Amino acid sequence: MLYLDHAATGPVRPEVREAILPFLGERYGNPSSHHTVGEAAAAALTDARRRVAAVLGMRPGDVIFTSGATEANNLALKGVAVAALLRTGRPGHLVTSAIEHESLLASAEFLERVHGVAVTRLRVDADGLVSADDLAASLREDTVLVSLGYANNEIGTVQDAAALAAVSTAARVPLHLDAVQAAGWLPLAGTGAEALSIAGHKIGAPQGIGALAIRGRVPLEPLLHGGGQERDRRSGTENVAGAVGLAVALELAEAERLDATARVTAVRDAFVARVLALIAEARLTGHASRRLPGTASFTFSGVSGEAVLLELERRGVVSSSGSACAAGSDEPSHVLLALGIAPEVAQTSVRFSFGHHATIDPAPLADAVAASVAAVRSR
Ligand code: PLP
Repeated sequence: MLYLDHAATGPVRPEVREAILPFLGERYGNPSSHHTVGEAAAAALTDARRRVAAVLGMRPGDVIFTSGATEANNLALKGVAVAALLRTGRPGHLVTSAIEHESLLASAEFLERVHGVAVTRLRVDADGLVSADDLAASLREDTVLVSLGYANNEIGTVQDAAALAAVSTAARVPLHLDAVQAAGWLPLAGTGAEALSIAGHKIGAPQGIGALAIRGRVPLEPLLHGGGQERDRRSGTENVAGAVGLAVALELAEAERLDATARVTAVRDAFVARVLALIAEARLTGHASRRLPGTASFTFSGVSGEAVLLELERRGVVSSSGSACAAGSDEPSHVLLALGIAPEVAQTSVRFSFGHHATIDPAPLADAVAASVAAVRSR
């Protein structure tokens, strides 16, 4: 089987599994316990925090371990907006874009509905890029946060983080980047963002661990109240094994990033060229060059994307129609609609996402896609 849905999740790396195992066994302490078993766990957590911070270009104290990026994104938006509301007594204003992951969009919608926060959802161009000028024009005197995806999970478009950060920094508004899909492909340090979300399971750590790294100067209210862990920003006994795994995975991803990018970009480009040559209706979605190395997403006008996925799976290729959350739903992707793609065309989308270690022969893969599309069309 050829698994090409790494944007959804991937296997735990052997190096990560090895690093985690002791914490599922003999090193089982609770980092809050005041005895040697607890202190050993606390030391491992401190070490993991330092290592994650180093890759993200943050301070160790900025790193808040979470259950994943959904929680990290919820914490960034709700934590910053509620802190501002408590400080000023006014609901404030948030800026995001129309193509974000549901965890950002639904958090913004919650703040709008429950706290009266004003939300601007920036439009994107046909390639999925947010314009720095649009961002500048959207900022208000009461804007508390700009929250955008660094790279999009469905189409792979990579935003110009430096330009967006320059605009928000000039306006003294913190920029939060959802860097989940960027990890292992793009530099995470030095983006100019004040906050970053990452998820372990996209880079070879287990599901259920992630982090929000947010600079200490950005006021943040916790979502989870209780024992005061994570400097009172995220209560709950820490996932020590997960944090250790995240640190190891992130360090490895960063060390291998340039190699992975060069290797996988070449495979992806050959695959995309052959798909476009073989299938007349195929259109690549997202930006032609400002895209994640591992992502190739297409529409196949007139052919159901779900039916193509089934044909591909019969041929041993596992891929997806886009976001794992949207999979199985009949709704066209909000990302593709925001690019200006018609709903009936958006429903023909298929996304192939390669892992950082992909060793794939692009020609037979493209041939399998062409055969699958032809099989669906001939029905
Ligand atoms: N943000 C993006 C861009 C994603 O691709 C994902 C993936 O699922 C998430 C957030 C949510 O991450 P998690 O699955 O760790 O909650």
